[in-house]
Amino acid sequence: MKIICVGRNYVEHIEELDNAVPKAPVLFMKPDTAIVLKNQPFFIPEFSNEIHHEVEILVKINRIGKHIDRKFAHKYYDEIGLGIDFTARDLQSQLKEKGLPWEKAKGFDGSAVIGKFLPKSNFDDINNINFRLEKNDKVQQSGNTSLMLWKIDTLIEYISKYFTLKIGDVIFTGTPSGVAKVTSNDTLTGFVENTKLFSIKIK
Ligand code: ZN
Repeated sequence: MKIICVGRNYVEHIEELDNAVPKAPVLFMKPDTAIVLKNQPFFIPEFSNEIHHEVEILVKINRIGKHIDRKFAHKYYDEIGLGIDFTARDLQSQLKEKGLPWEKAKGFDGSAVIGKFLPKSNFDDINNINFRLEKNDKVQQSGNTSLMLWKIDTLIEYISKYFTLKIGDVIFTGTPSGVAKVTSNDTLTGFVENTKLFSIKIK
């Protein structure tokens, strides 16, 4: 499986990092080795002093597709989840400055938390889902899928122009504002509406 991530999909997050609003979705990938194994903590890697959490709505692909039309995109997923795109922000800033790819800052071991998934049928409107990340029981990030610059079906159309989507692939749809540094002993807990989908300890 592969993990396709969308950057800069929420205006307030673009502003907090002083980035430009893109004209098309910003895409990058994480390898499957980035996934934190079930019930394991996140270990802060030695190459970064600034690991940020980015909580994101996930979409799990359930059939193979290429050049998927937006109006058929909804047939390609039936589960919605929540995860964290851990980012070595210090390293990413250096790479961005030099115009180099972000992989080391975004795709390192442990950089992808994939929580539980919920059936899409649980939601009346996929483009109006509330989600949040609590850090040590305080809300640190919150968002609603209505605030995405590119909505889920549009992302599937766009991504599948470049990358064939396969069963089990996961799309990270971008983070709302409130990204911040993690420190050891933090606990990060993610909720979609009021259902807890993951909890992870930082070491
Ligand atoms: Zn992200």
